[in-house]
This record gives sequence, C-alpha cells and structure tokens, in this order.
Amino acid sequence: MVTPSLPAGKRRPAIGGRFRSPLTMAMAAGLFGASAWPAGATPLSPSAGVIAGLPVSVAQGPSQASPATLYQGGDILTMAGPKPSYAEALVEKGGRILYVGPLAGAIKAAGGGARQVNLAGRTLLPGFIDAHGHLVLASHTLLNADLIGVKSIPELLGRMKAHAATLPEGVWVEGLGYRAEQLAENRHPTKEELDTVSTTRPVFVQDGSAHQGSINSVLLKQMGWSASSKDPAGGVISRKPGSSEPSGHVAEAPVFAVLAAKAPLTPAQIRQGVGKAVALWAANGQTTASEMGFGLSDDDINVVRQMLDEKLLPIDLLLFVKHSFLEQAKAGRSAVVAQYADPASRSPRVDGDGRYLNRVRLAGAKFWMDGSMDNAYMSQPYTNNPPGNTEKNFRGLAVDPQAAVEATVATTWKSNRQVAAHAIGDQAVDNFLVAIEKAYAAQGPADHRPIIQHAQFLRPDQIVRAKKVGAITSFTAGGIYPMGDYLARLMGPERVAWAGAAGSVQRAGIPWTIHHDMPAGVSPSLIYALWNIVNRTTKSGVVLSPQERVSPYDGLRALTINGAYQFHEEKSKGSLEPGKLADLVVLSANPLKVDPMTIKDIQVVETIKEGTSLYRNPSLSAGATTTASVPGSAPINEKDNCLVPHDQPQKPLSPAQQATLERLLGPGR
Ligand SMILES: [Zn+2]
Repeated sequence: MVTPSLPAGKRRPAIGGRFRSPLTMAMAAGLFGASAWPAGATPLSPSAGVIAGLPVSVAQGPSQASPATLYQGGDILTMAGPKPSYAEALVEKGGRILYVGPLAGAIKAAGGGARQVNLAGRTLLPGFIDAHGHLVLASHTLLNADLIGVKSIPELLGRMKAHAATLPEGVWVEGLGYRAEQLAENRHPTKEELDTVSTTRPVFVQDGSAHQGSINSVLLKQMGWSASSKDPAGGVISRKPGSSEPSGHVAEAPVFAVLAAKAPLTPAQIRQGVGKAVALWAANGQTTASEMGFGLSDDDINVVRQMLDEKLLPIDLLLFVKHSFLEQAKAGRSAVVAQYADPASRSPRVDGDGRYLNRVRLAGAKFWMDGSMDNAYMSQPYTNNPPGNTEKNFRGLAVDPQAAVEATVATTWKSNRQVAAHAIGDQAVDNFLVAIEKAYAAQGPADHRPIIQHAQFLRPDQIVRAKKVGAITSFTAGGIYPMGDYLARLMGPERVAWAGAAGSVQRAGIPWTIHHDMPAGVSPSLIYALWNIVNRTTKSGVVLSPQERVSPYDGLRALTINGAYQFHEEKSKGSLEPGKLADLVVLSANPLKVDPMTIKDIQVVETIKEGTSLYRNPSLSAGATTTASVPGSAPINEKDNCLVPHDQPQKPLSPAQQATLERLLGPGR
C-alpha cells in the first residue's frame, strides 16, 4: 500500500475553529489561478477543513450561513442522464448544490459574498463512489509494510525487515500486497524465509487479494498448526512437497483465522490508521467509501466505534457486514443505537439521511461465494491450474455455506438491508443468483439491488438472470491490465471472453459499477480502474474481449451515478444537480476529451465533500501539469499499445454472437 502524497501539513493551532497550515492555504490560493470574476466579488479564500493526512473532526459540512461557492472556468460534467451534459457554472451553498447552469444565473443564485473558484480548464465531476473497498480493513493494513510491486522474495523480505525495524518489540510484523505470480520465484514465501525476518515474533504477509499469504514458524506455532493438524473448512494450510509439515503458505479460512488472532489495535493506532485510509480515499477523489467485509478483523468494531465516538470521518462510509459476523454486528449495533439515542449526540447531516450516524451507515450483509482468482469457483475445471496447485479437475472453492446465504437473502429481501456477494467464478455467481431467485420467487420483486461483487466470470445467461432480479454487477476493473493475461492462462479463451463483461451488462441495461477493492486489488485509483474498463488492454498488449469495452462516459457513470444507485443514494449523490450533496472532484483533464489510452494519466486535483475541501494535489499548482503516476497504482508499462485502435468503432459481433446475445438479452425474458 502506498501512502498518498498529501500536503505535508501539520496540525496547527486552530484558527477560527479550523486547522490550516500555511502550505495548504498557499495552495488553495494558487490552485486555480487568478480568477476572472466580475468586479465587486470577494477574492478567493481558502476553504476550511484540510485533512493533510491527519484525522480531523469535520463530520459536519459548512452551515447554511456560510457563503456560497461558485465554480466556473472548466468543463462541469454533470453525469445526469445517459449522454454527457455540461454546465457553465455550479453553485454550492451549505454543503449542497444550489444551482447548475449558465454563469449569469449562477452569479445571481450565489448572491453577494460568494467565494469563487476558477477551474482554469480543469474538469469538475461528482465525487467518486467507492463501490467496493475496505476502508476499515485499510485502517489496519496501512499500518503494515507495503508489498505492492515487489518482484522477488528477497525484495519482499527486505521490505519486511525494514518495517520490522520501525516497530516496538512484540508487535506483529505484517505486510500486504505482493502477487505470487509476479515474483521471480512464482510462489508464496515459505515459513523459513519469513523466519529470517523474525524468529521471536509473528510475521504475516498477505498477497494482493488478501485471501492468501504466508506465516512464519512463530505464528504457525501460535495458531497450533502442525503436521498433525487438519485444514480448516473453507481453506488450506499448504504442506511441504511429500510431507504433511506446513510450508507457511495459507489460503482463505486460515488467513482470516490469523487476522482474528491479532492483538487489538490501540486507540492511537486506530486514529493513525483511519487517518491514512481516509487520506488515501480522498486523494483518489472518493467522497463515499465502503467496507465490504466489516468483521474481517476483530478490530473492526473498535475501529468503527472510534470513528463514531471521535467523529473521525470527513467522508461517508457504508458498512457491509461479513456474513459470519452478522450476529456480533447486530449486538454492536444495539449498543451504538442506545448510546446515540439522543439526537444531540449525532452530527447533523446536510442531506438529512437518517441512515447515517456520524458518517457511518450499516448498509447490509456480505457473503463470500468463492475465493480469490486462484480459487474462483467455476462450473467447469480450470484450463490451467494456478501455480503450485496440482489438483485434478480443479474448480476452485466455495466459501460461505449456501443454506446460510439463502436464508439471509430471504430475510433481507424486503428489508432496507442490502446483500452483496463476493463472486468471481461463474459457479459462485450461479449460487448467489439461485439465492436471489428463490427470494424473488417466494416474495416477489423488490427494489433490493443485490450486488454481484467482482463478477469476473459472468456468463451471458447469468446477465439475463441478474437483470430479471434487479441485481447490480460491480467489476474489479483494475485487474485487467496486470492480470488479464494470467486470467486467460487459467481459464482459456472461451471463458476469458466473459471476463469483466461490462459491455454486455451495459447493453443489457443493468446499472453496473467498477471498484478498486483496496487494500486488495492493484490500485486505490478509480481513474486507473476507468482506464482499464474502457481500454481492456493487458500487459501483453492484447485487448481482452474488445466487445466488452465501454465508452469513457459509461465508465464514469460507473464511478458516480451508478455507484449512488448501487447504494440507494441516487437521490442525494452521483450527479451534479440542484439539491444533491456538493460532493465534488476536480480532475486535471476531462476523460471524455483525451485519448482513452491516456485516461490513466489524469490526476485528481481536488476532492470536496459537501463543499469542504478534503484534499488538494500538492504537485498540481496553478496551471502546472505533472506526469506523476497515480498513487499506489501498479507499475504501468508505458510502451504497451493496444491492438485495436480506439478511434474506430468497437468491433461488431459475429452474426452468431449477435443472435445469441439477442436471444439472451431480449426484452421478452
Ligand atoms: Zn473486497
């Protein structure tokens, strides 16, 4: 995990109740250049509430009494409607969008004393919605060694040793983010290798999926796993070749068991971790975050309690509770509801959305229908097994018990609690769809919007079924470039054509989203995810099933209005329309007006939540451009070129493909 480059602001004495550093004030003043504003208007003043990498209590947006802010001077892409529409100006007041339209009307609407922002040719969009991330989990993992991009086991061990040197004695040494298939050794580290980091304290590394990893001898002993212990249900403790002695590598259930065995985080660690996570999300333009596995760690309840009690969040957070943790979460919720029974103890919300408490909303339940890519549950065996896996007719792993999934879907179908399922393989998708179809058949249609998360191998027939029950598909788009070739090897050409089938889902009329899945996934940047879903170019330069590409505008919808729809928040978020929250992101360029292959170079210039600026890009001063890479992104090979030119229409389907698609997606079904 890479900590974003944020303004090097330190917490200063409060000025007028807010924290400001000279640096952030200077950047605010210079960011959009000199304003071409009619005479008599107020000069540009810095907006308040800069995070600068530290958690600050800015849970409330600006009050109704604060002056309006008028944005103009760049593309204002409203994201309202199926085709791009632009406005000349936007006015924010009291945390909401007051006006969108021609400048003359905006000046009138803003009134005297308005703050003005000249976008200086940059692009204003609705703040991005993180359709599937793990902000709570990241609050722990960002305290660990960053293993993203390591190329060999010695390099991985080097980063772990350097991190260990910064920790007090006795604290676990943890790292996250390597990819076994990207290591020179093409395997996970062994316990002996991790023992070189420490033989006295636990050492734990997780790969980029967070579903697999390795542990050292101390931790194996602490977990009670030896040659004589059995693999737990829903997981694997790998053994040395020709022996039953654990090798150190663990997958699925044992990984979560290790996470559960950690010592609780201290309040200071939680404050630091939440601050890092929020800063990372805000630096990537995200004004609504999600935790798609609340309960993955025993610390989660403490982290969320502290978020509530100390009002640590300046952005919104949706929690989806890990299914097996549901009962504990319900008990925790009762305690929270009792504690915050007095409305005066809650921060008021600009949009009056009573589902939120101090920016946190318990939105639903989350299932795991299968494992990571290497354990995706397929209806047919893998074409080639993942490295190190010699199982015949390997089809991956089912994780959560089907009966429990069906029971929870049935009890929540007509409630205001959503369900979301991790489903990568087509059999995993099938099992989730069966649970939804049973609820639909027994109880009738509902505006439930169940979410098929990852949806990596979504068969054409499953798209039809998803449409019928009102399911949403959310794609882990950022994996296409780094992992597309690997997927093709694992699954073969026919099934790889289903991979991340955004084009088919779009044509079927299903609202779909894309997500980063941090701290799993490859990059916290949703712009990088957008670049992937639009271009679908893999590392080898191949375009993965070109018919599944989508337009940049539809890709942007996946990050904004569709994200809001996915979470039942489209009335207050996702587009720039009067009355909605002033959740905004300023980009260095308009993704609709650049060569699609350069979308990944677009930078987040500023992130604004309900009118309050949370992040400003320190490398983009007035009028300057930068070629700095996206924070935390996977290394990108600039020499790659796409085999299908983007200035030509997408390749038409063959008559047979077209006929199949029409049959599957036809309106009569
Ligand atoms: Zn996830």
